[in-house]
Amino acid sequence: RAREQGGGKYQYFSSEMNHRTLERIGIESALRLAVLRDELQLQYQALADLQTGEVASLEALVRWQHPALGLIPAQRFVPVAEETGLIHAIGAWVLRRVCQDLCQWRDAGLAPVRVAVNVSPKQFLDRGFAAATAATLAEFGLPPSALALEITEGVLLHDPDATGGTLAELKALGVALVLDDFGTGYSSLSCIKRFPFDAVKIDGAFIRDIVTDSGDAALSKTIIAMAHHLGIQVAAEGVETEAQCDFLRRHMCDLIQGYFFAPPLAADAVRELLRERRSLPPQLLRIQQQRR
Ligand code: C2E
Ligand code: MG
Ligand code: MG
Ligand code: MG
Repeated sequence: RAREQGGGKYQYFSSEMNHRTLERIGIESALRLAVLRDELQLQYQALADLQTGEVASLEALVRWQHPALGLIPAQRFVPVAEETGLIHAIGAWVLRRVCQDLCQWRDAGLAPVRVAVNVSPKQFLDRGFAAATAATLAEFGLPPSALALEITEGVLLHDPDATGGTLAELKALGVALVLDDFGTGYSSLSCIKRFPFDAVKIDGAFIRDIVTDSGDAALSKTIIAMAHHLGIQVAAEGVETEAQCDFLRRHMCDLIQGYFFAPPLAADAVRELLRERRSLPPQLLRIQQQRR
């Protein structure tokens, strides 16, 4: 009950409210112009590996640098972009910008890092999505292993056969596949067996009270155990505290992401994070490192 009220209400309230606020200022036409005026930006949020403590990969998150409203997070405009079809143009822009940034980091001498891109159901159900993705990677001279795609389970329910086909194409290409926001929808654990996912991300709504809510704790532990039986990695999103991190470490979660390790950062700042090889302290690793 607490979880439904807490997590559910938070998400619902903020997206509802922002949606209405932005509608008033004519979001659709503003967003259309934003794409043309190059007002979109990317931030990158690192995922830390709970075994090594190091950055395992990054997730690209789109932002809108609005001339009057400032930096608007994805949560506030991606739903509108999905409704209006603008997500296609935005999605193509995001993938190209990710490829550009990956090339820059490579040229700056940084070790290769994988970047995950969020993909909306509408984009994913486009015939030719896998081919277009492969073409963009090839254009930038990047290996498919440089990319992961995060999709939500909604797309699996909508058209499982088409989705399965596209997932198989991407998998064959060598792109990593991540099931995002796991636990929030209606699909079951069988989804992760039926489709070729490399990882699942436990939704932040279940991580928030993981230390105090026995239901959330049980759910997360079950997801981790089941995914591991199926040979799939588990990431936890929205990890904000050391206590949450410690819980996830003790229960053998593979990766954590959230403000506790690193917030979403601009490309320049994330390059510094990679360069300085930021890592988790040894006491927060799954197998604790011996002190000398
Ligand atoms: P998501 O992929 O589940 O991303 C997680 C959201 O949680 C992000 O919000 C991120 O900024 C936020 N977050 C990160 N760390 C923490 C934390 O410690 N605590 C809390 N409370 N939140 C945290 P954002 O950037 O507003 O993105 C919202 C959603 O919009 C994303 O959910 C994703 O589904 C979608 N999205 C983001 N970028 C893109 C994109 O380029 N294309 C598409 N199609 N969708 C995108
Ligand atoms: Mg995501
Ligand atoms: Mg997520
Ligand atoms: Mg989420």
